[in-house]
Amino acid sequence: MVAGQRPDAEPLGGPAAAGQAWFRPLQQALQLEAERGFDDLMGRRERFSAFLARQCQVPPAGLNPPQRQLLQELAAAYASYGDLSLARRQGLVRRTRQALHELQRALEPPTPVAPPRLRLAADPGAASEQPGGDPRRPGATPALHPDTPLAEIRGVGPRTAQKLAALGLFVARDLLRYYPRDYLDYANLVRIASLEPGRTATIVATVRRTNSFTSPRNPNLSILELQLQDITGRLRVSKFFAGKRFSSPGWLKAQQRQYPLGATVAVSGLVKETPYGPVFQDPLMEVLESPNAPLQSQQIGRLLPVYGLTEGLTAERVRAAIQPVLAAAAAWGDPLPAALLEQQGLVELPTALTQIHQPANQESLSAARRRLVFDEFLLLQLGLLLRRRELTSRPAPALAPAAPALGSAAGGRSLVQAFLELLPFPLTGAQRRVLAEIRADLVQEQPMARLVQGDVGSGKTVVAIAALLTAIDAGCQGALMAPTEVLAEQHYQKLCAWLPQLHVSCALLTGSTPARRRRELLADLANGNLQLLVGTHALLEDPVQFARLGLVVVDEQHRFGVAQRNRLLDKGLQPHLLTMTATPIPRTLALSLHGDLEVSQIDELPPGRTPIRTAMLKAGERHEAYGLIREEVAAGQRAYVVLPLVEESEKLDLRSAVEVHRQLSEEVFPELSVGLLHGRMASADKQAAIGAFARGESHVLVSTTVVEVGVDVPEASVMVIEHADRFGLAQLHQLRGRVGRGAAASHCLLINDSRNALARQRLEVLVHSTDGFEIAEMDLRLRGPGAVLGTRQSGLPDLALASLTDDGEVLEQARRVAQELMATDPELRRHPALAQVLADQRQRLSQGARLN
Ligand code: ADP
Ligand code: MG
Repeated sequence: MVAGQRPDAEPLGGPAAAGQAWFRPLQQALQLEAERGFDDLMGRRERFSAFLARQCQVPPAGLNPPQRQLLQELAAAYASYGDLSLARRQGLVRRTRQALHELQRALEPPTPVAPPRLRLAADPGAASEQPGGDPRRPGATPALHPDTPLAEIRGVGPRTAQKLAALGLFVARDLLRYYPRDYLDYANLVRIASLEPGRTATIVATVRRTNSFTSPRNPNLSILELQLQDITGRLRVSKFFAGKRFSSPGWLKAQQRQYPLGATVAVSGLVKETPYGPVFQDPLMEVLESPNAPLQSQQIGRLLPVYGLTEGLTAERVRAAIQPVLAAAAAWGDPLPAALLEQQGLVELPTALTQIHQPANQESLSAARRRLVFDEFLLLQLGLLLRRRELTSRPAPALAPAAPALGSAAGGRSLVQAFLELLPFPLTGAQRRVLAEIRADLVQEQPMARLVQGDVGSGKTVVAIAALLTAIDAGCQGALMAPTEVLAEQHYQKLCAWLPQLHVSCALLTGSTPARRRRELLADLANGNLQLLVGTHALLEDPVQFARLGLVVVDEQHRFGVAQRNRLLDKGLQPHLLTMTATPIPRTLALSLHGDLEVSQIDELPPGRTPIRTAMLKAGERHEAYGLIREEVAAGQRAYVVLPLVEESEKLDLRSAVEVHRQLSEEVFPELSVGLLHGRMASADKQAAIGAFARGESHVLVSTTVVEVGVDVPEASVMVIEHADRFGLAQLHQLRGRVGRGAAASHCLLINDSRNALARQRLEVLVHSTDGFEIAEMDLRLRGPGAVLGTRQSGLPDLALASLTDDGEVLEQARRVAQELMATDPELRRHPALAQVLADQRQRLSQGARLN
């Protein structure tokens, strides 16, 4: 969330506001360009430089001739942006931001807010850019706005601004949102004699001696040394200054003078072990007024913020830079109304920002954090709910069952009923419940946007087919999309077992469908003869035209994205959408990623499954796994051996599928038939390998994670997973679901060749649990959301403070508030400041997505 709005930034509020509308996209483009490393980002239609050149030629009204001239010059400069060196691009972007800022101020009515007085930190290095010099310009400091370039803040000179830019901080708002990484607790005081390496600690001691000098071996390195003492012992503390400018003897002496002999100082930092005893690494130091009053420290309070820093940028300098911004931000307002804050028990934004940077105590720090985390989640949820509104804005065909035609194939019953009667088993309670939820959605004109989560083997396919038949019952077409050809083919095979009996026409379309077949099939689809299309993403491609598409089911992994939805909308289609996933994710993640969907859970396995026995083996115990495979195959069962990679990777020393296949078939199981399946095989070869394994022509299938998605061979009763430590828990659980599909007791053997204790601990979770949700929750805790979702899953929200592991409760709270807001004020008319912040964020996100 960006900083609160200025009261004068109301949209549609006169000429100043019209100017605002001109500035905003430019400022955002400039920011994005800087964040992405001055690459001349490609937008949807044009490059960053083209966009700037174009915009600068159409200046907002109200500029005088020199100002317009300035924009013309910038436009010309951007015309050759592509030829500039990185440094020059950087310079041009910086100049442009500055120029825009000045123009923007020139267009605005003067603001009545008195400029806050800048408080300078005690460290002279923090206050001035030049050792010994004083860069403070005379005259009034302009009022700080969220978009004020950092270089214009008093006390932040161009050099500091450059260092801050390296951290991705360009304007005041950025600095405000540059939250401390950590806090050193001044209350956590220890004596010198009890300093422990590896921990952060604070001491309070007396200065006995000081020294400062430039390293004789390195003229770029200057050192300030303090000899400190408390009642338990002595300690030498060194501060290092990298850079020639710090070698000025005058500046060094000034540093030294800050710590007069006999003064009491507090020193905080990480304690490191050295041959000479413990030392502080990169310590933070502060002179205290009296030995007994460390907590009265005026400059920083009791909890000292620690920032992620870049070379040559001291913590003091960051703190000094933030100080005036915090003071100014008090006047920037709060996008959330006071009544809401009170009702939700949240502190005001300016308070939260001040307390996150300069906490008075732990309580106010956690209140501040809670407010800021709430804001992050609230924006996220509002964004998702808004997207849902957009996704479902156009009506879908209401799939009410048509009156069955006399003498129809199903003999007067609906296709769904006929299908359920064909099944050799009754639906589980969970399947019935979820199917009812889906069917209740389908009869509405409001398009369904629903996610079905269900553990592997919970029987999602049957539910999907029943849903598709509901669409066909209503005279519409259905589409079933799978992430891989293997899985699409398998679904198709399954459907072929049932649909012909119901006289429902069905076809398979993948990337490898031959051209002639494809033509026929597309024609049948367009004229409505074809009722159900199964395939990969190929079925969203351009030439595919449906006569009357009612429902799209997306199986496994492929979250139906906005782009895909738009492709359908472009074809004039607004079908109902059902996504199915076997990778259950914890609720916090589900809400954050799929908050725009309704979620159904198939939380019950069909009866008669024997639980899979899972064990962990060391690499040296691999022969035990092979022994088990031999036994099971002798008993008529089959086995998978799963590997993470296809080819031998020297770097990672992984045993590749190809190599393992050779070894197993030639050396280990010469008496058995060993198949091979990996993602780089041609589609026909993959089908052949799966087919042979399913028919029992091969006994052991060596495979990469291709088997993860849905391959269904009931006779497979053993799975050996090599390098199990390299897989995520959810993925391992998913893999494991490929066995135990029949009645025989099944085994999963995880081979762990890592000595890492955490890896072991993660795998233990799998040994002890078979509950997908529980496993996902543990994976999230142990590895974090990015790792849980993997790189393929994009769209993970960018959260600065909020944690999907620890802040679940705040997330629920924000979700509730977002829902209430959307229910009572869907356009956020009564919350203009909030609407603005949200619009800013959405524009940034969509720009990011486009420019990516
Ligand atoms: P997943 O949820 O992993 O996609 P599937 O739909 O592939 O699971 O179902 C796994 C297996 O369970 C299939 O062989 C399917 O026929 C069978 N199955 C599905 N529903 C039931 C049920 N209610 N009772 C018994 N077996 C079922
Ligand atoms: Mg499935």
